[in-house]
Amino acid sequence: MTTATNRGTTIVPEPVLNAVASRLDPSRLHRATRIAPYTAFRIGGPADLLYDAATGDDLADAIDSAETEGVDWFVLGLGANVLVGDGGFRGLVIRNLARHVTWHDDGRCVAESGTVMGDLIRDAVARGWSGLEHYVGIPSTVGGAIWQNLHFLSPAPERERTMFIAEVFEACRVRHERGERATVDAGYVGFGYDDTVFHHTRDIVLDVTFRLAAGDRGAMHRILQENLSWRGARHPWLEHHPSAGSIFRKIEGVGAGRLVDQCGLKGHRIGDAQISHIHANIMVNLGQATAVDVRALIAHAQDAVFEKFGHRLQPEIGFIGSFEPG
Ligand SMILES: Cc1cc2nc3c(=O)[nH]c(=O)nc-3n(C[C@H](O)[C@H](O)[C@H](O)COP(=O)(O)OP(=O)(O)OC[C@H]3O[C@@H](n4cnc5c(N)ncnc54)[C@H](O)[C@@H]3O)c2cc1C
Repeated sequence: MTTATNRGTTIVPEPVLNAVASRLDPSRLHRATRIAPYTAFRIGGPADLLYDAATGDDLADAIDSAETEGVDWFVLGLGANVLVGDGGFRGLVIRNLARHVTWHDDGRCVAESGTVMGDLIRDAVARGWSGLEHYVGIPSTVGGAIWQNLHFLSPAPERERTMFIAEVFEACRVRHERGERATVDAGYVGFGYDDTVFHHTRDIVLDVTFRLAAGDRGAMHRILQENLSWRGARHPWLEHHPSAGSIFRKIEGVGAGRLVDQCGLKGHRIGDAQISHIHANIMVNLGQATAVDVRALIAHAQDAVFEKFGHRLQPEIGFIGSFEPG
């Protein structure tokens, strides 16, 4: 069975929610609003409070407000690596819309953490700065990319190694879990495979400084085209089949998806949640899938793989909020 984070499951009294709300800009605050449209899976019940943070400081201040009132909070990027429960989130969900970017002449750029990676990549290539183009087509904010240590295969034709966003990272400004703001380096972030300090603390990335190299625009455009077509041929298309990307953690030398595939589960469906026909480590929402459907499908795949191969698959996505019916 999968495990939930228990984040956003404790009922918050109305006066306490009102106290948090009174600290936030009312024009960007929404009450009892479904989270589903803001996730790549298009699944998830209502947040008590949903706030659109406009800048890095606004993001940090919103967290301060929730902390002051003892209310649970969650920072949502593009929602590309989470499954939000059908019961939604008790407390404050902060959508990160902090998207200001400053470019420097030496190839450094400072991007607020809500900047959409696709937008940043387009801008970098247009300016002739190389290093980000490898990650084209991966749904992510800049903050999510650092949280994850975003990765993809090196350019065609070799594709002989995995490249990581850590390779172009210089520093980032964070809100530490106790509230203080600071600039930290790669040593503090502790980049690993699908791992950073942000998985183990409640620190939040406010903005990131990338160091890019001068590049040939033609070569970069070639990488964009090759990577997009490589992905397009192997992964279900998000616009038609919402998903959260890979569901299970990588098993070195074995391949989680291969094990699911060898259990004959491609196309297997519970409700409107389905194991993709073209990629066995991706589950797709056929339209009306619930979080309960996805959790049941995850458990089914885990049990089948364990029975046949003795491997216990571990989910790589985050489970957010209440998994009780909405
Ligand atoms: C179709 C598809 C394909 C994918 N392909 C790849 C791939 O090739 N390579 C790859 O590495 N990943 C891939 N992923 C996974 C996903 O794109 C990454 O995990 C991405 O970094 C998530 O970013 P996000 O902004 O959507 O974060 P969210 O999903 O919104 O959040 C994920 C986690 O990050 C935390 N977080 C978000 N913003 C911040 C912040 N500012 N500071 C600290 N923590 C933060 C959240 O609180 C949450 O815990 C894929 C996903 C999909 C749906």
